[in-house]
Amino acid sequence: MKKHNFSAGPCILPENVFKKASEAIINFNDLDLSLLEISHRSKDFVEVMDRATSLAIELLGLQGKGYKALFLQGGASLQFLMVAYNLLNKKAAYLNTGTWSSKAIKEAKPFGELIEVASSKDANFNYIPKGYEIPSDADYFHTTSNNTIFGTSIKSFPETAVPMVCDMSSDIFSRQMDFSKFDLIYAGAQKNMGPAGATLVVIKEDILGNVERQIPSMLDYKIHIDKESMFNTPPVFAVYVSMLTLEWLKDLGGISAIEKINEQKAALIYDEIDRNPLFKGFAAVEDRSFMNATFNLVDDAHASTFDTMWKEARINGLNGHRSVGGYRASMYNAMPIASVQALVDVMQELERKA
Ligand SMILES: *Cc1c(COP(=O)(O)O)cnc(C)c1O
Repeated sequence: MKKHNFSAGPCILPENVFKKASEAIINFNDLDLSLLEISHRSKDFVEVMDRATSLAIELLGLQGKGYKALFLQGGASLQFLMVAYNLLNKKAAYLNTGTWSSKAIKEAKPFGELIEVASSKDANFNYIPKGYEIPSDADYFHTTSNNTIFGTSIKSFPETAVPMVCDMSSDIFSRQMDFSKFDLIYAGAQKNMGPAGATLVVIKEDILGNVERQIPSMLDYKIHIDKESMFNTPPVFAVYVSMLTLEWLKDLGGISAIEKINEQKAALIYDEIDRNPLFKGFAAVEDRSFMNATFNLVDDAHASTFDTMWKEARINGLNGHRSVGGYRASMYNAMPIASVQALVDVMQELERKA
């Protein structure tokens, strides 16, 4: 039997996606060839790329709105750099809500003036700053919608005329929002969409072409758009598995359907964290992430008992990130509610024993 997998990333994917992906490695589309040995320019693979990109646009509700979806390599981390390379002329504004935002700021710094509009670093990033001002002459405003490490998420984005860029690596396709507010969205696949190796970039074409600098081909969004993510050999397996996950999500009813399930899972774990006197939540209640729930033991003396108990309950990946400590339950789209219940059961058993 499969373990309850709370890993923060790479992470759980739907069971039938794993099954179909493994079949395609042996015999893809009844070609009597593996997906891994056919040309990325063959009709069969071009169809995969087309389907994956159009499903991404469709699920985000962005059809006919001037957006292109790309599958690139280098992870979300390369997007920290590519965003600045392609969009930063003079000045950019960033909201600093954690480790990933800080890294995005670091990569963009050499390209122009960086305005950190607000930061929650003073409180180890346990909340989302609000009420900040975005300079109206910024080339773009960058946020991180879900802070994977600290377990916070932005519930409401500011209204601004400045183009918005968002790192949605750990909550893309998990909750409804007006995605057309954003001019560029990026997400490493390995949290909510597929295996490591591909990064989804959804970009409004008309924000490009405003910087003077020479952009290296591999870092140039325009080239990747013109070549439909086939400028060089794409990560074929990661794109295929992402396509399977997006098909799974569409069959389930899309983002509105998965959002309801994600809300139930989040309510289950947070209710227990708040009820159980042995535990306390890490993130500010109003900013709690529905994807990554971070929590600590009130008394660390229970740590070794609790750790033994959850491991015996066949739970995987519950340790918190080293910068937060404690525990982190990552509950991405594919995680069944039964796994969250299994964790809650262990927390209640600890309370009885303690
Ligand atoms: C995991 C993560 C990243 C880093 O992704 P890579 O694909 O490993 O570069 C960036 N941002 C967020 C929000 C993440 O969760």
